[in-house]
Amino acid sequence: MANENKLQAIISHCKEYGFVFPSSEIYDGLGAVYDYGQNGAELKKNIKDYWWKSMTQLHDHIVGIDAAIFMHPTTWKASGHVDNFSDPMIDNKDSKKRYRVDHLIEAYAEQLAPDASAALIQSMEQLIAADDFAGLKNLIDTNNIKCSVSGTCNWTDVRQFNLMFGTQLGSVAEESSEIYLRPETAQGIFVNFLNVQKTGRMKIPFGIAQIGKAFRNEIVARGFIFRMREFEQMEMQFFVRPGTQQEWYQYWKEARMQWHLSLGISPNKYRFHDHVKLAHYADAACDIEYDFPMGFKELEGIHSRTDFDLKNHQQFSGKKLTYFDTELNQHYIPYVVETSIGLDRTFLMLLSEAYQEEDLSTEEKQDARVVLKLPAMLAPYKLAILPLLKKDGLPEIAKELMAECRGSFKCFYEEKDAIGKRYRRMDAIGTPFCVTIDHQTKEDGTVTIRHRDSMLQERVALKDIKQIVLNAVQY
Ligand code: ATP
Repeated sequence: MANENKLQAIISHCKEYGFVFPSSEIYDGLGAVYDYGQNGAELKKNIKDYWWKSMTQLHDHIVGIDAAIFMHPTTWKASGHVDNFSDPMIDNKDSKKRYRVDHLIEAYAEQLAPDASAALIQSMEQLIAADDFAGLKNLIDTNNIKCSVSGTCNWTDVRQFNLMFGTQLGSVAEESSEIYLRPETAQGIFVNFLNVQKTGRMKIPFGIAQIGKAFRNEIVARGFIFRMREFEQMEMQFFVRPGTQQEWYQYWKEARMQWHLSLGISPNKYRFHDHVKLAHYADAACDIEYDFPMGFKELEGIHSRTDFDLKNHQQFSGKKLTYFDTELNQHYIPYVVETSIGLDRTFLMLLSEAYQEEDLSTEEKQDARVVLKLPAMLAPYKLAILPLLKKDGLPEIAKELMAECRGSFKCFYEEKDAIGKRYRRMDAIGTPFCVTIDHQTKEDGTVTIRHRDSMLQERVALKDIKQIVLNAVQY
């Protein structure tokens, strides 16, 4: 399937099977905001649990927190977001369409011959690095770059557009102060660094993990749940001795790649992209990119953030944020290596891997199925329990199995429709096992278990079902 079609197919499938809906759809939706439906919410929760366990339960020196979305406004001064968290943008006066300047120029460059394209991109990058907005405008004008909607070159000046959403705290307008919806979860960890270190008696090196919502007023939000204005991050800040950050940066690069491979995804679907132009806080940084239907794109960032954040919070708050290293007999501000992965992008990656349209036609009849080959441990439902008929005591046996299993993993019960139809519905939401209870069950205590990926069916003892599923979904 062509990649463009694949993304469209995934979007439709998500909507049809209760994974992702456009937000407030009855009002025609809201740009780049999405809601997770009944199956999407389960999948998302399972991804979070898998990440959380790998970080906090399977690692000796990482603990998790859950900080508030609202933070003191000075936080964002100290972190550099008030001054630096912005993209240059430009508006077309005729169509009123707003563009990110780099996206506009890149789209134009793609139509040029390779040499001309490379030269244009190079000029653009130099101008962006120098914050030369007049130069960028000039570059757009001299290349006669047109708006794709109006077809004109009638542009405003280039302006910086801060990506943070502001809102008011307090009920009385005059007394209220402007605060921001956090654009990343990391700062909640930094400001709690000493609280956690002291109350948890943590010794360096140690990490603090967090999963939570982040908000960015993205100028160009596209690619379904790839780029949203409200999204979720799974971040971990690892606090280390100054001077050891390169070692730990390499460690986390490797550890995070191993985590991705543990999802059963082929290594050639991933690549590292090392940053050449580093963010204001970093001394080394890379992205783990995944080959989405739109091509290789950032999924996770690994950043060596130096002592930038803690040092600035210490300066802006006037509170000491140093750690006393008993081995070195020395106070210092720790360095930080961060791993930051988008939960929604992980969700999209898993769906991109899992979604398959299979042609099952034989000489006798045409047939096809859509199946989500999700890792069993992450699937919304682990087991579907299906009595073949709605009579003869079969539902009773099925409900007993349901009662036995539902405390350990999520089960789906259904007694309507032909069994083939029920199997297909379970394939479409990625349920790894279906169990059918039939008349033979009453005679010899066996059931048919059907495996989602191979569609193989085998006869096994009813009493073994729970353990078979547990073996496949536990991690
Ligand atoms: P991009 O370059 O794609 O805008 P970024 O480099 O700004 O991303 P980070 O600030 O490093 O992203 O955030 C860490 C992770 O959070 C990203 O790797 C990505 O998975 C996720 N993320 C960032 N912005 C969004 C968004 N608008 N929608 C969904 N996920 C996002």
